[in-house]
Amino acid sequence: MTNPSLLILAGDGIGPEVMAEVRKIIDWFGAKRGVSFDVSEGLVGGCAYDAHGTPLTDETMARAQEVDAVLLGAVGGPKYDNLDFSVKPERGLLRLRKEMDLYANLRPAQCFNALADFSSLKKDVVAGLDIMIVRELTSGIYFGEPRGIFEEGNERVGINTQRYTESEIERVARSAFELARRRNNRVCSMEKANVMESGLLWREVVQKVHDEEYPDVELSHMYADAGAMQLCRWPKQFDVIVTDNLFGDLLSDAAAMLTGSLGMLPSASLGAPMANGRPKALYEPVHGSAPDIAGQGKANPIACILSFAMALRYSFDMGSDADRLEKAVEKVLADGLRTADLLGEDGVQPVSTSEMGDAVVAALDASL
Ligand code: NAD
Repeated sequence: MTNPSLLILAGDGIGPEVMAEVRKIIDWFGAKRGVSFDVSEGLVGGCAYDAHGTPLTDETMARAQEVDAVLLGAVGGPKYDNLDFSVKPERGLLRLRKEMDLYANLRPAQCFNALADFSSLKKDVVAGLDIMIVRELTSGIYFGEPRGIFEEGNERVGINTQRYTESEIERVARSAFELARRRNNRVCSMEKANVMESGLLWREVVQKVHDEEYPDVELSHMYADAGAMQLCRWPKQFDVIVTDNLFGDLLSDAAAMLTGSLGMLPSASLGAPMANGRPKALYEPVHGSAPDIAGQGKANPIACILSFAMALRYSFDMGSDADRLEKAVEKVLADGLRTADLLGEDGVQPVSTSEMGDAVVAALDASL
């Protein structure tokens, strides 16, 4: 049997720093669990532009299509802010998502007990929180045509188009229902069916997929603005939330903050199954390249480590190893280790990026 294959694209800023800690964990799985990954590396974002004049080469794109999973760090930085739109670092990431057709973006918002005090919400509102936002990622207003800035009379007009086909809604709805079956069996679909035709179609199609294929899953519908309020009021009422690209972008960022720090949040972007039955998949932390702390050993590697845990669960069918890794992270936090982004006012000294990675590896050792 061939080894599972991984393409690592560490990217810019803190990307390579947090990815170095994931490499320690990949090595641990090889040494201690007998699971050797076939790991290759490539460039994406600003570093790819510096080396090749493009944020993603065709070769790297082709490799991403071949492997079982892609693990990405982060892209971007002030050095690239004035580049032409077509070669900006983010275009590399958008190309990966588009060409791999990664239509379902999974963003868990999970509150580790040790960090419940860290949220801006009250402890009882967030302690034990475990919700999953499924955001449609390859269509909707970020991609719809017509788009652009046009002359109209004696002024300019900016246009973007929200557009969804039935099949685009069906496939992301299926992703949400499948996930719910592996969790607490509830899906809440969010749109603005009251004011948007695309929202009305979204609601109808999600309901139809439910009734025909997933009647065992509990389905509710909510307007996205009300959903945003409910997320802040009592987030534990949700299990899986499914929503479109634009609302998902906003709602998942808001949900992210329920749990404390950007440095804790993983994500997965999944597409259709490949010939081997595994979904096309890209795993990445939610945070960006954090240029303000890059190169200082301050970055929290946990978001990237938890992204790898999601890869174990969703690409490699290693759910118990994913649990083991998540428990190792939980233990390290319960032991009081904190990177600088997780510090409160209690005078705890922060640990560095690599000290946090080493502590997770030690907790993995202790789990054997
Ligand atoms: P950011 O996520 O990089 O940083 C926001 C704040 O959170 C900063 O103060 C940063 O220090 C902190 N932070 C982020 N990740 C952290 C971590 N792991 N540990 C500790 N602190 C962390 O967002 P930004 O500042 O808006 O963007 C910076 C650059 O990243 C921009 O070029 C932006 O385009 C890019 N970006 C990339 C991605 C991506 O690669 N997916 C996502 C968002 C932003």
